[in-house]
Amino acid sequence: MARNEREQEMSSAERRRRMEARRRRQREQERRRKKKLMLLIGGGVAALVVVGLIIFAVIKLVSGGSATIASKSGSFVIAIDPGHGGEDVGKSNGGTSEKQVTMDICEKLKVMLEGQGCQVLMLREDDTRISKEDRVQKANEAQADLLVSVHCGYSEDSSSSGVVSYYKESSKQSANLAEMIETAVVKESGALDGGFQEGSYHIISDTEMPAVLIEVGYISNGDEAVSLADDSYQNDIAKGIAKGIIMSLEKNE
Ligand SMILES: [Zn+2]
Repeated sequence: MARNEREQEMSSAERRRRMEARRRRQREQERRRKKKLMLLIGGGVAALVVVGLIIFAVIKLVSGGSATIASKSGSFVIAIDPGHGGEDVGKSNGGTSEKQVTMDICEKLKVMLEGQGCQVLMLREDDTRISKEDRVQKANEAQADLLVSVHCGYSEDSSSSGVVSYYKESSKQSANLAEMIETAVVKESGALDGGFQEGSYHIISDTEMPAVLIEVGYISNGDEAVSLADDSYQNDIAKGIAKGIIMSLEKNE
């Protein structure tokens, strides 16, 4: 009897020990299961991040590669003013008219600036005549950050050539913008550097933002008129203006 009791006691102690061991194993298994689950979730999140980064990289590649201004400080509004339009042809030479040259360059410029994340406000959108007052009002109402007006130069001396930039009087930021645009356009196009100086044109004087009027070449010069009508030359001019604008925005951030 005494032996049986001892055996029973021992076996119940053994049972408790075994039960505790089993519970420990279950707790350990539960812990491992949770850890595995967390690893799985973590892996899933990591995979999503990687997929997101790939999509981001592809979008960036498609939209032109380099980092945009917009990614730094929101979107800037750039007013672009293609000179003349409609029955106001501007100056012309042979088959080249100023209103067409300015529109061609400004349309290219618009695409380039939008590619950099800027918002572009075209003060003339098609071949119509728009008064100086309407252009000024449109730019002011939109509270554009910068304005660039595009024209051609003209001289009685048909040998005159090159690019000249005019900036709003007594505006340091306009002078900086003119310098950057002039430098970049000359570099991109190889045109003669006509420098930058103060100008008193309505479109740059009466608007409220830093403003530059650029004469992209002398239409009175036969060779330059031909260049100004050329698609790839227009691209170079537009690229120079865009670079000048972007540099100016980066500087004034
Ligand atoms: Zn003009």
